[in-house]
Amino acid sequence: MEGSSPMLDAEAVADLVLLDPLTEESLVQTLQERFRRHDIYTYIGNVVISVNPYQALPLYTPEKVEEYHNCSFFAVKPHIYAIADDAYRSLRDRDSDQCILITGESGAGKTEASKLVMSYMAAVSSKGEEVNKVKEQLLQSNPVLEAFGNAKTVRNDNSSRFGKYMDIEFDFKGEPLGGVISNYLLEKSRIVRHVKGERNFHIFYQLLAGASPQLLQQLKLRQDCGHYGYLDRESSSLPGVDDAANFHAMQDAMRVIGFSPDEVTELLEVTAVVLKLGNIQLSSSFQANGMEACSITEPQELREICELIRLDPSMLEQALCTRTVKARDETVLTSLTVPQGYYGRDALAKNIYSRLFDWLVNRINTSIQVKSDEQRKVMGVLDIYGFEIFQDNGFEQFIINYCNEKLQQIFILMTLKEEQEEYVREGIQWTPVEFFDNSIICNLIENSTSGILALLDEECLRPGVVNEDTFLTKLNQLLAKHKHYESKETQNARYITDTSLPARCFRIHHYAGKVTYNVTGFIEKNNDLLFRDLSQAMWAAQHALLRSLFPEGDPQKASLKLPPTAGFQFKSSVAMLMKNLYSKNPNYIRCIKPNDTKSAMVFTPELVLAQVRYLGLMENVRVRRAGYAFRQLYGPFLQRYKMLNRRTWPRWDGGDREGTEVLLAGLAFPAEELAFGHTKIFIRSPRTLFDLERQRQE
Ligand code: ATP
Ligand code: MG
Repeated sequence: MEGSSPMLDAEAVADLVLLDPLTEESLVQTLQERFRRHDIYTYIGNVVISVNPYQALPLYTPEKVEEYHNCSFFAVKPHIYAIADDAYRSLRDRDSDQCILITGESGAGKTEASKLVMSYMAAVSSKGEEVNKVKEQLLQSNPVLEAFGNAKTVRNDNSSRFGKYMDIEFDFKGEPLGGVISNYLLEKSRIVRHVKGERNFHIFYQLLAGASPQLLQQLKLRQDCGHYGYLDRESSSLPGVDDAANFHAMQDAMRVIGFSPDEVTELLEVTAVVLKLGNIQLSSSFQANGMEACSITEPQELREICELIRLDPSMLEQALCTRTVKARDETVLTSLTVPQGYYGRDALAKNIYSRLFDWLVNRINTSIQVKSDEQRKVMGVLDIYGFEIFQDNGFEQFIINYCNEKLQQIFILMTLKEEQEEYVREGIQWTPVEFFDNSIICNLIENSTSGILALLDEECLRPGVVNEDTFLTKLNQLLAKHKHYESKETQNARYITDTSLPARCFRIHHYAGKVTYNVTGFIEKNNDLLFRDLSQAMWAAQHALLRSLFPEGDPQKASLKLPPTAGFQFKSSVAMLMKNLYSKNPNYIRCIKPNDTKSAMVFTPELVLAQVRYLGLMENVRVRRAGYAFRQLYGPFLQRYKMLNRRTWPRWDGGDREGTEVLLAGLAFPAEELAFGHTKIFIRSPRTLFDLERQRQE
């Protein structure tokens, strides 16, 4: 390894652990300088930071794959392939299950990174006919899930509106056998509402643009986006995006995965039903008894929906306009008001779609799941929304940030654990590191009796008048003393005069910063209720797929028990995810968005600084070098620096460790700067390493 090290460039170190001095400013400056040189990847130890280049760089060619395949991690420029290769080799050769955790804010490049990891593994594992089929199926799950789960937002034209975790399973030779996908919290509110300039999920536009006239007719759809209430005319097409071509690619992908033509048809029928529900119009009329009632004004759409799902239209009409109320032994049909009717209609559309999405993930899993029961090794890939701090933060941000708080917790625990284990393995004295333990914040949210989620559930279940104000009052009473909780009331009680906290809000001091949440919508979103009449109507339809999505609509099985709340479900799935991750060796990819305009070559330091904070990168560097900033196997180390001592130059005939000891003994570094492990040399501060490097250059 001759020439200048890719790691040690004083202006733009490739590993931030070597940054000296370490400040937020120097960290951002280094990323900026590297970005300018198109070095979009940077390490913190074995963590990769990736700055979105917003342009196609020649970084992912087959030659690059070759270069990183079996590379020595620290001998080549930082690259996402290097971490993928390292993880893959540990899995194959050392039998250690791996996970790759990709985080970052919207548009930072998480999904692209996860696809690069997947395609790298596909490229370097072997190529038999059977294996290739598995690889194709795994890779083709992406276009299908992206069609149904991604949408254009103001931040990203292809924004994932769900969290995704995928276990890829390998046999003992390192050949992929299959996988399992889990999805988290689809943003289903997008079905009925989206901000101006954004779009609904890609699939609707793809379907209208790409379906043949026969298919459109079969689905009773019109090609014009503007016709549909849930879409909007202005942003129906996107520059640079060919919805029709993507529709065909998605159909091909489904075929590769193994969907039958009938399954595809059923899937698209249900998709069409969601779209058409948005066109159902309601108006108020007066009943004979003078009460206001709700009725459907345009029955055409209703009839077509019912033809698609094979249901008696009067049943759906009744379910949309009225509600059965059970009082003692009597059931009474009461009329809904028009707003209640629309509320029910939208809830139905959101429910159908999110359940359809779950079905889709399950269906893909059925195809890609490993059929044999041979021993497997697992590589998990997590692509999940990063920390969100918006102007207005609601239930969704609260849930997402909770997940990130948990990921941060696991990150600290695992990094420290790994450091500690390495020191023990190498026989080096370990002195415990001071770090901020965020379990106090996790606990504030998830504690099963006094956590915010539990209090919210309690409020949702309480009979009588519940609303967000009573919820907030309760939080204020019970959490007033918590160091990481704040609201206007608790501020008043503590004589804090920071008036920036508005009413109906509480604030949490997250590891990544303070976030103010508005409680409006918390109860409704957590309850996520669908009127029973609607689920019963769906179950009554003769459409097998649709019907299977509403098992609770079976009157025989109707239970009075409320379904678990959205918060409860999310907490359970996060707990399962954490357990899964904790059993694996972690690899991190931290994605950063360099600017807000999706432009190539633009780097906005303030924006990056904010992300450096959310991602906890300073803490990351500190933890990584709490003990020793740098470590290397004796062999390569001696090779690189042997010229600095006449006793080891030009050749050292003894063992590598002895050679390193002799070499360093001649250089007079303070004793506490160095530690000699069983196989590696450890250097405490970056300065010592730079010193070595400088002497070497001279
Ligand atoms: P979200 O949270 O909204 O899903 P994300 O982090 O998954 O965002 P991506 O969809 O991966 O973001 O990336 C956004 C866009 O940035 C991509 O569509 C692509 O145009 C560009 N991009 C990301 N990574 C790269 C890369 N390595 N090279 C070139 N362009 C990239
Ligand atoms: Mg994404």
